[in-house]
Amino acid sequence: MKPTGLAALLAVALQAAEPVVIAHRGASGILPEHTRESKVAAHRMGADYLEQDVVLSQDDVPIVLHDVHLDTTTDVAEKFPDRRRKDGRFYAIDLTAAEIATLNATERFDHRTGKQVMPLRHPKGKGVFRVPTLEQELTLISELNQTTGRRAGIYPELKAPAWHRKEGKDLAAIVLPILRKHGYATKSDPCYLQCFEYAEVKRIREELGWKGSVIMLLGGTKGVDGTDFAALKTDAGLKSLVGLVDGIGPSLTDVIKDGKVTDLVARAHAAGLKVHPYTLRADALPKGVKDVAEAVRLIFHEARADGLFTDHPDKVLEALR
Ligand code: CA
Repeated sequence: MKPTGLAALLAVALQAAEPVVIAHRGASGILPEHTRESKVAAHRMGADYLEQDVVLSQDDVPIVLHDVHLDTTTDVAEKFPDRRRKDGRFYAIDLTAAEIATLNATERFDHRTGKQVMPLRHPKGKGVFRVPTLEQELTLISELNQTTGRRAGIYPELKAPAWHRKEGKDLAAIVLPILRKHGYATKSDPCYLQCFEYAEVKRIREELGWKGSVIMLLGGTKGVDGTDFAALKTDAGLKSLVGLVDGIGPSLTDVIKDGKVTDLVARAHAAGLKVHPYTLRADALPKGVKDVAEAVRLIFHEARADGLFTDHPDKVLEALR
């Protein structure tokens, strides 16, 4: 029998309170970030949402890549040495999607030294991995949702839209129609769009008419585009976001300080905003936190965050159970 009346209401409330686990760049704790393999693993781990960072190629194809640079997660420097800019870097925007598709993706490394950033993770340069386009990834997730019967959501981030505009490209205007085409358009669709740039968040709502859920990402004090994170984290700043976004994505360092929970989540909740902090890593825990279980207790049971970005969705889900 289906619960009715108060029981049904309670069930809905409990379901709404269930925190969401977001696979940060996929299961990036065990496989190179943003590869198909890392997304398949995260889906099988049971992550509620799979994250996509999105930048453009030279021919305006959205690519799933964390940096505007290709030289920290691929072998671009060996395959396309003549594409180096004066600043010594290689940009996705200087290669076509077909060229990017020939690159081998790998565990993140320092582009100057070649040294792997997280030494205990997938060995750099090993294996055959690719940089997916956004559409390839959305298709993969839809296939996985179909074959497993478990619907994981998507969590795309518009990366550096102001920088793209300076380069003559409108990232949001290209990405939003693709999301709509793949069935992500309203707040009832399992999709959170995220961005660090306040002006762009306003623009996707007011100019580009985006009706889906949006998370305003918040860094330390000021964004590269001038976004005033410090002001947005005040009570007045949080209130000013209501109606524009559904929630905030603050750094975990603003939620846990020296092993103790701050008041940020409570203040955001008081304003009516959800909170999805980034990023819990089992191999780089917040200061003063001894393991994933303690982090999960602090983030979800004490601070009462509504979701969490993690490189280790399996460990977070295990701790939640
Ligand atoms: Ca991201």
